[in-house]
Amino acid sequence: MTAAAATAAPAPFVATRNACKLCTPLGACLALAGIEGARTILHGSQGCATYIRRYMISHFKEPVDIASSNFSESATIFGGRDNLRAGLANVTRQYQPGVIGIATTCLAETIGEDVRMYLHELRSEQAPDGVPLPPIVHVATPSYCGTHAEGFAATLRALVEQLAESGPRGEHVNVFAGMFSPADLRYLKEILADFQLPATLLPDYSDTLDGPTWDEYQLIPRGGTPLEAVRRTAQARASIEFSGVRNIEASASHWLCEHHGIPPFRPPLPIGVSATDSLFGTLEVLSGRDTPERHTAERGRLIDSLVDGHKYLFDRRAVVFGEEDLVTGIVGLLCELGVRPVLCATGGESGRLRAAIESVAPQQAAAIQVHQATDFAELEELAGDLRPDLLIGNSKGYWLARRLKVPLVRIGFPIHDRVGGARLLHVGYRGAQQLADRIINTLLEAVQEASDEGYAYL
Ligand code: SF4
Repeated sequence: MTAAAATAAPAPFVATRNACKLCTPLGACLALAGIEGARTILHGSQGCATYIRRYMISHFKEPVDIASSNFSESATIFGGRDNLRAGLANVTRQYQPGVIGIATTCLAETIGEDVRMYLHELRSEQAPDGVPLPPIVHVATPSYCGTHAEGFAATLRALVEQLAESGPRGEHVNVFAGMFSPADLRYLKEILADFQLPATLLPDYSDTLDGPTWDEYQLIPRGGTPLEAVRRTAQARASIEFSGVRNIEASASHWLCEHHGIPPFRPPLPIGVSATDSLFGTLEVLSGRDTPERHTAERGRLIDSLVDGHKYLFDRRAVVFGEEDLVTGIVGLLCELGVRPVLCATGGESGRLRAAIESVAPQQAAAIQVHQATDFAELEELAGDLRPDLLIGNSKGYWLARRLKVPLVRIGFPIHDRVGGARLLHVGYRGAQQLADRIINTLLEAVQEASDEGYAYL
């Protein structure tokens, strides 16, 4: 490196080019899709609803309806009170939802829409425009200061803040899921059932976004966390909310602890062996039962397969990108596999990613480059110099992988250039097994493709 290069100032920021994150109300739409009978209205511009629908449909391959209060020029100048009122009446008439979630878009937030006041006025009317409204939950989701993961977490908090009701303490526990796949949610429910632990999983879009074929069109897909169960989150015995990068003080479990005395348990996101052990340890404490044998056996098979696969994985170099909690979980898994995460990148700006990575990979963290507020243009510049063997992240990394000629293991959301995004497992021993197999096979395939002679016996 020349002296001039060593002292060169970083290039001035020009613009974000393909941000390594998604829009905040998208996270709200995803969380609300996991509430039984819910319908979402985006308060703001119509294009935001179109973009979010397109992303969710291409990933889940299911119909997704998202209403919009559809700002015009006049609503942008004079406010969207009338649009919201008309939107609420239309959605109630058309869908007869059990609950309506309202998430704001950048435009509504920028002009300072006071949705809380609008709702206060509407509720005092009982039946605006002659239509009795269902319960309504409002969440502020300005995308210019957040990510889809933050919108998701803010919606869980809004749901309990605005719907939970005091009452006699029950036997159930609240389980606040992360941005998991429908397959992850189904597996988590299976684990909770095996511990015989009555639980409210919030949200639960395992059926609404990954359902069977229908005999006739359903305006609102069946499934989701029942509204009554959301109300009873304030009567639970405990809450489990996975820790990671999210701001605990802004979390649903923190609010329930502060306002209703529900003790929170915060194991790490259960990706990889060690993090999953923490979840099972928490479930043992809460249920008073040992881990059921079939899960112990599953763990044993996983460890055996990691020993088998170690020779293919040791010292391989990986770039991990995407939503901060998922990146952290994957780094933990990679270190267990013997893979070196050389670069972790996210579009989030929590400021907590470095610390989270240090907590899951204390020995490797110093050698890992961690970049937040990243876009894919910057990621390409950074990753190219690091000579990675593979990339791990969502489909937005496809062009990066193509240009670097490095294979991409697709995880998380969105996956819109493959089928099966909804069926990918990430969590638990089973999820770690599937991820490890996919990572090993991807590397083996890359070696075979690059070999002049080819080899087939491994
Ligand atoms: S304007 Fe804001 S809310 Fe709308 S799609 Fe863009 S980032 Fe999302």
